[in-house]
Amino acid sequence: MNLLEGAKIILKTLHEQGYEAYIVGGYVRDYLLGVKSTDIDIATNAHPEVVATMFPKTILTGMKHGTVTVVIDKKQYEVTTFRTDGNYLDRRRPDQVTFVGDLQTDIKRRDFTINALALTIDEQVIDFVGGIEDIKKRIIRTVGNPYERFSEDALRMLRVFRFVSQLGFTVDEETLEAIKVNRELMNFISKERIIMEIAKLVLGKYFHDAIKLIFKTEFYKAVDFLNHGLDLLVNLNYTPTDFSEFLTFLAVTGNYEAIMNLPLANVIKKTVTDVYEMYSLEINEFTNPILFRQGLYVCLLTNKLNHYLRKLPDKQEEIKNQYENLPIKRVCDLAYKGSDLIIRYPERKGPWIGDMIDEICLKILLGELKNDYHEIEKYVEEKVKSE
Ligand code: ATP
Ligand code: MG
Repeated sequence: MNLLEGAKIILKTLHEQGYEAYIVGGYVRDYLLGVKSTDIDIATNAHPEVVATMFPKTILTGMKHGTVTVVIDKKQYEVTTFRTDGNYLDRRRPDQVTFVGDLQTDIKRRDFTINALALTIDEQVIDFVGGIEDIKKRIIRTVGNPYERFSEDALRMLRVFRFVSQLGFTVDEETLEAIKVNRELMNFISKERIIMEIAKLVLGKYFHDAIKLIFKTEFYKAVDFLNHGLDLLVNLNYTPTDFSEFLTFLAVTGNYEAIMNLPLANVIKKTVTDVYEMYSLEINEFTNPILFRQGLYVCLLTNKLNHYLRKLPDKQEEIKNQYENLPIKRVCDLAYKGSDLIIRYPERKGPWIGDMIDEICLKILLGELKNDYHEIEKYVEEKVKSE
């Protein structure tokens, strides 16, 4: 069963119980564009507690906002009750949602005309806001007055750039003007929500168009970790391959502190810090010990930044090759291990063991010792004798 067929089962089930239900949001936009969508959102006038009882497999995570996740054939569908977003008192998130009875009210709360279409079970598109026309013209425009819509929820401004990056559309002039006027409202938006949109923006096919527009509108001034480096990026033929790579670019171009203040997973912060340090130390010789200690990913990123920002030759192939040929890639690759040392020298303490393992690794990486049980054993014995 494909994604759309699963959604139609949900629509049919709701219809049979006397409820209205439509496919809404991104799926309808992508349907008209002929691009593949990865998920389907459904809107209905059935209330969440009713939806929850109608399907054998549901996940109840967003009941408060009217959302029930329905699982059909292992795929998840978000089924949300028609609603308005109440008032935006804290300018962050709708503090309360109000369920409404009709599709049109639900459509009017949505961000952009291209995201405000609905699809019936017979695959008829319902359009209250001129979304079909805007998809044809490839233009991003807010539903209603952009100044008001960005004041309600400033994240929508960032979403404009996210959709530019994903779709390559242009932005309606008034919508763009409203961004210039309202950008400071981004201060009210949580870093978590900002990160989620930027992570999607980075992966867009039209990343460069989005960056150019963020620069031109000076929107970058409203997001602290974008404050520096975008001027470089607009002029470079450089595209990061993922979110952490984009973060490393931003870190080395002046936003390191701001990035460390973001709520990011520790592994991402570590990668950013490792690259930041290598780049700051101007390391461009990727020796075996450095490859071993930092890992391939960090070395490749440092090389990439050296190449694009310092105009040094690209060493990518060389680095990959050298990494493949490392005599050991991790401590556990050692033929003679810490546990062997502990058995052989039970009177020795932990730090000695750790230092000895480091020394053995270094010798092997420098080609001064073979990764062979007996050779290492002999090396350690001589070392102990000479103490
Ligand atoms: P994607 O394909 O990346 O999932 P999407 O259009 O489905 O894109 P989502 O962020 O998943 O985007 O949001 C789903 C729908 O919810 C949007 O199409 C839009 O109608 C509505 N929406 C999402 N965020 C907002 C917002 N901040 N303000 C108003 N409507 C929004
Ligand atoms: Mg979506």
